[in-house]
Amino acid sequence: MRISVIGCGYLGAVHAACMAELGHDVVGVDVDESKVAELAAGRAPFFEPGLPEVLARGVASGRLRFTTDMAETAGARVHFVAVGTPQTAGSHAADLRYVDAAVGGLLPHLSDGDLVVGKSTVPVGTAARLGDLVRASSGADLAWNPEFLREGFAVADTLSPDRFVYGVPGGEGGERATALLDEVYAGPLAAGMPRLVTDYATAELVKVSANAFLATKISFINAMAEIAEATGADVTQLADAIGHDARIGRRFLNAGLGFGGGCLPKDIRAFQARADELGLESLAFLADVDAVNMRRRRYVVDLALEMLGEVVGAKVAVLGLAFKPDSDDVRDSPALDVARALQEAGAHVVAYDPEANATAALVAPGLEYVDSVDEAIQGAALALVLTEWRQFRGLDPEAVGRSMAHRRVIDARTVLDLALWRDHGFEARGLGRP
Ligand code: NAD
Repeated sequence: MRISVIGCGYLGAVHAACMAELGHDVVGVDVDESKVAELAAGRAPFFEPGLPEVLARGVASGRLRFTTDMAETAGARVHFVAVGTPQTAGSHAADLRYVDAAVGGLLPHLSDGDLVVGKSTVPVGTAARLGDLVRASSGADLAWNPEFLREGFAVADTLSPDRFVYGVPGGEGGERATALLDEVYAGPLAAGMPRLVTDYATAELVKVSANAFLATKISFINAMAEIAEATGADVTQLADAIGHDARIGRRFLNAGLGFGGGCLPKDIRAFQARADELGLESLAFLADVDAVNMRRRRYVVDLALEMLGEVVGAKVAVLGLAFKPDSDDVRDSPALDVARALQEAGAHVVAYDPEANATAALVAPGLEYVDSVDEAIQGAALALVLTEWRQFRGLDPEAVGRSMAHRRVIDARTVLDLALWRDHGFEARGLGRP
């Protein structure tokens, strides 16, 4: 099938490449010329495991191309909209200007029977509004098919998602939309992926409620970490113990520096803002979820200042900048926030991330970036592990200690064996662990 994907960022580039991998003929459209040039050459403009391979295969096969020209969407049957929905400056609501521009830009190129498919995360009510616009302006229809991919696993999650959700209009339009999406996803559906067909509002809410639930689970365990810190308990053991209860489950119960990235923080805020607009108090608790999450960043900064004593001019090694491992994404990254706060407090921050140095340098040019753990820790008065990259788990405390000026470490992601580091003479602090 001929498919277009509007917006080729972390979501859209992966979606376009994976649709080509499924055998479709795909054109990706983005307004960012340098991103399009990279993608068109078969190169990934950001770090995502597995993406370079599917991109290169798609481009080489001739089934995948990229352009800045919206007119090239003409002739495609299904048009995915995957542009950003950031937080509005000065408010918590989602900024829909990019979605509106993408759908508006598509309208002149739509033909009878085409289907516009929203993938961006949007406030409930958006699909109904845009569906009316699309149907009034063309013979096309609109569905909302929220995306659940996780950065770091984006290719696998796109090709084999936990579930598909199709938000479709009522009546024959809904049946046609469902049939077209079934054709797009024929491969994964045949492999048994579940698919739920809902109305627009339900599909939009599935996405934001899933994110709200995950954020709440993370902040729940981080709230327990705060209690553990005040009482001498161990939040890791607590998580293991409550996680054995199948109703609770152990996943997403790792206490630490909290969530960040381009989705969870802005999505829970936009969800609250939408509930406020609807005159509902139902999501008031998300303000606390957000507050617990942001407090963890402050806690780590305060802990670092306490351990350093004299912060001005002290060399601090920051290990990890991305908001999560296996990604170079630093949007609302807790690690980068902590690094910047320490720099502002007067420390000389030397940062190393296996993949995110370049993306971090764009938004935080004042930090010093180095290419290895060894360079970062050389002569440092304190080291902080702020992203749980696999390579940090295997750090040798004796070797690290020999390089540092003082044996001090903060493990903000629960990846180090603190007792072992203490055996090697470290003042070693974790979150929610004695
Ligand atoms: P992103 O910023 O990486 O990508 C957005 C892209 O859209 C950019 O490349 C931008 O240049 C392009 N764009 C903006 N306006 C355009 C226009 N009018 N025409 C063509 N291109 C345009 O953002 P992202 O992380 O890919 O997120 C996109 C959407 O997907 C958001 O709503 C996000 O919440 C949602 N989402 C993201 C993820 C994720 O893990 N990144 C997961 C699920 C859902």
